[in-house]
Amino acid sequence: MVQQRPTLSIVVPCYNEEPVMEETIRQLSDVLNGLIGEELVSDKSFLLFVNDGSSDRTWEMITEHHERNPLVYGLKLAANVGHQNALLGGLMQAKELADCVISIDADLQDDVRVIREFVLRYLEGNEIVYGVRECRSTDAWFKRNSALAFYRLMKWMGLRVVYNHADYRLMSKNALEQLAKFKEVNLFLRGMVPLIGLKSTTVKYNRLERFAGESKYPLKKMLAFAFEGITSLSVEPIRLVTVSGFLFFGVSILAGIYSVLSKLSGNVVTGWTSLMLSLWFIGGMVLISLGLLGEYVGKIYKEVKHRPLYLIEQELYSLTGSLMKAK
Ligand code: UDP
Ligand code: MG
Repeated sequence: MVQQRPTLSIVVPCYNEEPVMEETIRQLSDVLNGLIGEELVSDKSFLLFVNDGSSDRTWEMITEHHERNPLVYGLKLAANVGHQNALLGGLMQAKELADCVISIDADLQDDVRVIREFVLRYLEGNEIVYGVRECRSTDAWFKRNSALAFYRLMKWMGLRVVYNHADYRLMSKNALEQLAKFKEVNLFLRGMVPLIGLKSTTVKYNRLERFAGESKYPLKKMLAFAFEGITSLSVEPIRLVTVSGFLFFGVSILAGIYSVLSKLSGNVVTGWTSLMLSLWFIGGMVLISLGLLGEYVGKIYKEVKHRPLYLIEQELYSLTGSLMKAK
């Protein structure tokens, strides 16, 4: 049973977002104040800005706003740990104080007007509300199509994916408690959240251009993130390697029979080219397989180390004294 006026938290990971902070804080405060005014959420609701080891004035700006805007809370991580870890850090802190938490990027690419819709869906009893991009017209052709290929690949590997959903979503406290039980350190939140189950729904929105500043996900990082996502959640690639191993074994037996037969029939094989080609091909396959295995071994190594995903340096919460116990 969902209570009437839940406390909402909006978690925003920020890494060197100085050019957008002012506007982001203004817009999110307006939205949250609107929801409080409408009595959709409680007046204890807050914005939690997670500073992910920025080297610019991002944290100073959060602190300044915290001092004059009661909605603004801050969480300073001790070092830059990347978007996914920073977001998880924010979510885990926010769930202690809130009934439901929305995650959103600092750059205002995700339409803030949808927040109200998220809350309404939550009040209807949904534990997870996924923001789904309706059209990707603000993306370049390549990003649009590579993203589609990526979702198809994930689906084909048997992973539960929500098409065109990034990390713009609402999660209830209950859903976050479940997420906290996932002990993995190779994070790919948008692949993990659908594993939780619980009642969920989607809300469509249009993604806008970055308001200011630069994307922290250039092509190289984007591909790395996609690769990370797949190898963190699925062992399907390793299975493919095994399957292709058997396939090549079969082909080599056939080739062997063929060459013996042609030798017996007097046809001496002169094919240097085919020899070279197959050598290269098989060599490549072996290297890829080894690399893939290495990737998984590396991941296991990371998991068994159980390093903390983020370390908190400083917390700025409610000035009225409902300070959270430090963990
Ligand atoms: N971000 C972060 N730590 C990082 C990189 C990015 O907290 O190491 C934050 C960033 O400030 C933004 C969000 O993650 O709020 C998404 O990053 P960005 O907008 O650059 O990614 P894109 O939208 O281009 O995929
Ligand atoms: Mg962005």
